[in-house]
Amino acid sequence: MSWFEYTGALHVHSRYSDGGGTVERIIKAAHKAQLDFVILTDHETLKGRDRWQGWHDGLLLVVDEEISPWIGNHYLALGIKNEIRAKMALRAQPFIDEVRRQGGVGIIAHPFGEKKGLFPVLDRPWIDWDAVGFDGMEIWSYMYDWIKDLTLLTLPYYLLHPSEAIDGPRPQTLAKWDELNLSRKVIGVCGLDAHAKKLPFLPFVEILPYEYLLRTLRNHILLEEPLDPTSPQRSISAIHEAIRRGSCFIGYDLIADSTGFLFKGEMAGMELNMGDERPFVGRATLRVKTPAPARIRVLRNGEPILERVESEVEIGVNSPGVYRAEAYLGGKPWILSNPIYLRPSRSA
Ligand SMILES: [Zn+2]
Ligand SMILES: [Zn+2]
Repeated sequence: MSWFEYTGALHVHSRYSDGGGTVERIIKAAHKAQLDFVILTDHETLKGRDRWQGWHDGLLLVVDEEISPWIGNHYLALGIKNEIRAKMALRAQPFIDEVRRQGGVGIIAHPFGEKKGLFPVLDRPWIDWDAVGFDGMEIWSYMYDWIKDLTLLTLPYYLLHPSEAIDGPRPQTLAKWDELNLSRKVIGVCGLDAHAKKLPFLPFVEILPYEYLLRTLRNHILLEEPLDPTSPQRSISAIHEAIRRGSCFIGYDLIADSTGFLFKGEMAGMELNMGDERPFVGRATLRVKTPAPARIRVLRNGEPILERVESEVEIGVNSPGVYRAEAYLGGKPWILSNPIYLRPSRSA
């Protein structure tokens, strides 16, 4: 199958909550960054949906919400119909269920957030790991990656050279993701958590402007049909559903454009694609293709089973497992696929 690939930013805040910029400015920045879509997720609100959601000269702006309890458990609620307010919620299960009831896609945001005293960014990790029914998690949060080593000494350097602070998903997050995927499908996405805030003590300095962030960490969505420029609603649903299926991958496109990456396979004459969940039969062949030579790694249940510098690798597998791929460029994580799930068949 050949895919229609669309590139976009997820988890962006505007002035409708605590972001530093207007939606107009975000749209302009997205055009400059040549994005196909931006998903706004302001805290506890769908404000701006009536005015802004839709096509803007080839850019699809989607207005969703970040459910943001003060204790943590932040949750990206995509495609919900009505605003969900849970500022005071102590448990996540009720709003996870509500997102599902409204037909939305729910994603755990910055699952292992960390407090940094310097900034108006508070510690908001996921607490309720007993909760069930979420669709995915942010396995790479740009903001929490950038902020993790920040001190007064490193701040000026990382403000000028943000990419020096970026190391990739936290090992703790990937380990949790791999663990969850062993028992059920949990898709992985990246989030910017873009705020473009001013520094409190140097108000003329903006932290991570949208114009920069939108060129960095992106979700690439693969669709069977092209987006419909005449129907925002159909196009938005197509993006949400592709995320729900796991028909997407993460690209750190600042270092190189990851467009064209593929992770696929065959098993018993059947095509396998990211997000597919099938009973394992006999033997499968998996293939990874990167748009430039890179250090490609294939993992089974979180453990590397192949690592090679190539632009294309193929591997035969003889056992069930959750298979995914990663690619590194110049020592930095560049691409992370969603898994192909080959589950033990009942009779085995
Ligand atoms: Zn948050
Ligand atoms: Zn956020």
